[in-house]
Amino acid sequence: MDRNEHVRVAVIGSGFGGLGAAVRLRREGVTDFVVLERAGSVGGAWRDNSYPGCACDIPSHLYSFSFAPNPDWPRAFSGQRHIRAYLEKVADTFGLRPHLRLNHEVLMARWDRAALHWEIETSRGTCTAEVVVSATGPLSDPRVPGIPGLDTFPGKVFHSARWDHEYDLRGKRVAVVGTGASAIQIVPAIQPETGRLTLFQRTPPWVLPRRDRAISRAERRLHRAVPITGSVRRQLLWAVRELQVTFFTRRHGGPGLVERLAKAHLARAVKDPGLRARLTPSYRIGCKRILLSDTYYPALARPDVDVVASGLAQVRGSTLVAADGTETEADAIVFATGFHVTDMPIAERVVGADGRTLAEAWRDGMESLRGATAAGFPNWMTIIGPNTGLGNSSMILVIESQLNYLADYLRKLDDLGGRGSDGGADLAGRVALDARPSAVRAWNHRVQERMKRTVWSTGGCTSWYLDGKGRNTTIWPGTTAEFRRATREVDLAEYDVIRPFRDGPDDATTSVNEREVVR
Ligand SMILES: Cc1cc2nc3c(=O)[nH]c(=O)nc-3n(C[C@H](O)[C@H](O)[C@H](O)COP(=O)(O)OP(=O)(O)OC[C@H]3O[C@@H](n4cnc5c(N)ncnc54)[C@H](O)[C@@H]3O)c2cc1C
Repeated sequence: MDRNEHVRVAVIGSGFGGLGAAVRLRREGVTDFVVLERAGSVGGAWRDNSYPGCACDIPSHLYSFSFAPNPDWPRAFSGQRHIRAYLEKVADTFGLRPHLRLNHEVLMARWDRAALHWEIETSRGTCTAEVVVSATGPLSDPRVPGIPGLDTFPGKVFHSARWDHEYDLRGKRVAVVGTGASAIQIVPAIQPETGRLTLFQRTPPWVLPRRDRAISRAERRLHRAVPITGSVRRQLLWAVRELQVTFFTRRHGGPGLVERLAKAHLARAVKDPGLRARLTPSYRIGCKRILLSDTYYPALARPDVDVVASGLAQVRGSTLVAADGTETEADAIVFATGFHVTDMPIAERVVGADGRTLAEAWRDGMESLRGATAAGFPNWMTIIGPNTGLGNSSMILVIESQLNYLADYLRKLDDLGGRGSDGGADLAGRVALDARPSAVRAWNHRVQERMKRTVWSTGGCTSWYLDGKGRNTTIWPGTTAEFRRATREVDLAEYDVIRPFRDGPDDATTSVNEREVVR
């Protein structure tokens, strides 16, 4: 990065969110921006998660950008390699390479109240930006639980998102800790190689048939020759999921058809009643993410696989001790234990207008306005911010809605007289927007009221959707169409407009900003 480079927009992260933002910026005519990425290549989650069996669990034709359709998806649920290649291609096709600053980890971002811009310190120099788009990902920083004695383990230990491909699993006694979306892909993929596999399961997931299949050459040819067929396919996939949303967001009585389907799926693969009992969830389906697999249960039914229905509690050398006292010998431990979700790591590194970090502002739980902006953090926008996650559909739909909001945010700044200028010398037209605390409160009140009747709140489980206080700060409790409508444009009544203090030539450097309320 050029020393003290100033840009209109700094995007952090180069996964679907960051690359999507970059494409949208260019389409809006904004070329004065950089994408800061801590790793050496683009791809985000699809670069980092290369574990055996890694694939999406939303069909590829929906789990991709609407503006970059890919007629060549090889499978209904394509694998990591293909999704990563798709994102590399997006970077090429849309001319994003000149904007990329790879190996630039954002260490700190501070709002400069006088200059009305962000000062960003990266691992390779500093820059300033009028607007920051933080796309650091909801599932980006691996979470490994603090297990007493883990440091005494003589074997190999790694997290699912940091797979060690050098390590040969053949014939090894491997323990997999966790039963989430990654674990159920890993277990059947590695089981044929391992000598013995032990799964530590705190809570069994609900698993439905995956029905993955190769997309035939004829279908691909058709999508290439008649692109509208790909769009129709995407619309159908979207519509089915959109109709399913009420299943999650409305109170339902008694075990429904879907739970019966899931139990039948389990019964078909697992004949041992003891194992079946251990694998049967005791909470309502949908409360935790519903998982899709045709190979997970058959793998667990194999004679060389043990399911310990208890979490890993302690490690004593090569002996792994579960919370229920079960002891297991292992050569390797794979933690498929998820990510820092409700404690977004970038929040520790963002200092707002009043000198507090975003993490401090969110001490009682993450809160934002329309999933994007936060009071006291002017011109800072999060892609996949609080309460934007989906229980059953493609996160790309959410990302694209947020990009509409970003585009309108920049347009509003332009309309208010802000213009991309040169890092502090010219403050004349500079303007910033700060979410009003009352608007943030009102938005979150609405979200949390709706959350009360959803299966995520009433389903009787503890999930990664909930923060330490049991509040769901991750999921959007509605349809993707509702979210799109809510983020179509920026309502200036929800923001304070900040301009540099105008009296006197030096006043721009005081810390007093003029706040206008636009109604
Ligand atoms: C294994 C796996 C499977 C998934 N499958 C699906 C699916 O099927 N359907 C679905 O809808 N969602 C799925 N998801 C959720 C997924 O997180 C989102 O769909 C989407 O990929 C998020 O994109 P993102 O750009 O917001 O975040 P990411 O892809 O996580 O990208 C964030 C980027 O920010 C970078 N970064 C983080 N901190 C910094 C910093 N301080 N400085 C600089 N760079 C930084 C990271 O290196 C990374 O490149 C899956 C997630 C995982 C992990």
